[in-house]
Amino acid sequence: MHKANEYDGRMDTNRESMKRCTCCSRALDDSFIYCPFCGRRIGLPDAPERKWYYSTRAVVLGIVFLGPFALPAVWFNPRYGILTKTIITILVLALTVLVGYALVMLYLRAVEQIGELMTSY
Ligand SMILES: [Zn+2]
Repeated sequence: MHKANEYDGRMDTNRESMKRCTCCSRALDDSFIYCPFCGRRIGLPDAPERKWYYSTRAVVLGIVFLGPFALPAVWFNPRYGILTKTIITILVLALTVLVGYALVMLYLRAVEQIGELMTSY
């Protein structure tokens, strides 16, 4: 309630998709439930970064199950900075290459073993 001055300074440099107070129509951060200027209740936060597919758990699960196909969700996620996104992308791609390599090796070994079984008869 008394942080109005402090808040004013960074108000416009934050994000362009700010919601506004329905009472005094000042720009508000999405995380505010009560307006810091007039104290009116804004409602439950429903900002895009609070959607379930932007949660860390959803991103981790997506990467585990979808691998590199989950990367667009990481890149569209407003909660991560460019560095985090780059690191996650490199890690996922490296893992994908490793898993792909392991699968190819397993496949070649299986083919080899089947070949040995065939020739042993
Ligand atoms: Zn207000």
